[in-house]
Amino acid sequence: MTTQTATNRIFNFSAGPCTLPLEVLEAAQSQFVDYGGEGMSLIEMSHRSKTVDGVHTEALSLMRELLGVPDTHHILFLGGGATLQFSMIPQNLLAGDNKKAAYTHSGAWAKKAIGDAKLFGDIDVIWDGADSDYASLPDPATLSVPTDAAYLHLTSNETIGGVQWKDFPTTDVPIVADMSSDILSRALPWEKFGIVYAGAQKNIGPAGMALVIIRDDILQSCPDNVPLYANYKKHQGAGSMLNTPPVFQIWMVKLVLEWLKGKGGLVYAADMAAKRSGIVYDAIENSGGYYRCPVDADYRSPMNVVWRLPSEELEAKFIAEATAAGLSGLKGHRSVGGCRASIYNAMPVEGAEALATFMGEFAKGNG
Ligand code: PMP
Repeated sequence: MTTQTATNRIFNFSAGPCTLPLEVLEAAQSQFVDYGGEGMSLIEMSHRSKTVDGVHTEALSLMRELLGVPDTHHILFLGGGATLQFSMIPQNLLAGDNKKAAYTHSGAWAKKAIGDAKLFGDIDVIWDGADSDYASLPDPATLSVPTDAAYLHLTSNETIGGVQWKDFPTTDVPIVADMSSDILSRALPWEKFGIVYAGAQKNIGPAGMALVIIRDDILQSCPDNVPLYANYKKHQGAGSMLNTPPVFQIWMVKLVLEWLKGKGGLVYAADMAAKRSGIVYDAIENSGGYYRCPVDADYRSPMNVVWRLPSEELEAKFIAEATAAGLSGLKGHRSVGGCRASIYNAMPVEGAEALATFMGEFAKGNG
């Protein structure tokens, strides 16, 4: 087995799992076999040990600090990724008398959330982006949210379609948001959110864990008649250690959050996201129509930039030549085709610059 070094790393534009900060990988590598001089790896220790508990507590506390989560909300690290949340949310929030929830259908991930929610309640899809082929979003001010809904669900960033909510609706109904692909990239108006959840494998760390941030009154109203693992109240009661937690992931999350804090937190993340995505969107806009982004300019994602070339043959050639040039993971999702650059927090600006340069050269040579 060869050891990977910093010098043979390429620019990885995959949608998640995705590139992680090199400093984080190296920090984990240096402590992997013998954590803190204890003579064993962190992932070999009991999850009830002081050391693992310390890592867990520190990761939770850094998450609260960096995201600016107020005391009104609890933070949980759960297994099962974001997908488990699609059913945990309605199981907990629609278990009482009110079985009604409002959902927005903004693309592939919202569709999955709606599919699971329908198993548990009366789901009112109050906005559907089908007319724009899921390339746009509603103006939040025009959204009519039924006042009797237990919650309003939205997907803040559609990882496949490349659309992002820039603002969130103002409503008395608590918003439940899937932020899997843009968490930790901007400040959030916490007073609007009942639940924010995210799979870890983009801006948070490796796959295999979900972040769930839940308002206390919603947590307290979770019923007892849902299965143990699906019950938010039980997780919180156990300090987010109801069962054996994903210790390796939580350790990596702590390292990623330390890295982000060192860089300047959400202000840095938002600034870098605007820079990186600006470079790639400019490359599309300045190509004289060679590259075309189908997404409404008002809702373009700074995390997942999608674009088309004049033909599918050229797209295949573009992806093959980009890969050979050390720009990996640019193939669009298999359900939609085209190209996609996922440029999360750990992607250096140089990655976006290298991509833009490659795009310019490819267009010149294949026009
Ligand atoms: N929601 C969104 C917006 C996603 O991008 C993804 C994964 N790409 C998921 C949910 C599902 O996440 P997981 O694989 O962690 O279940």
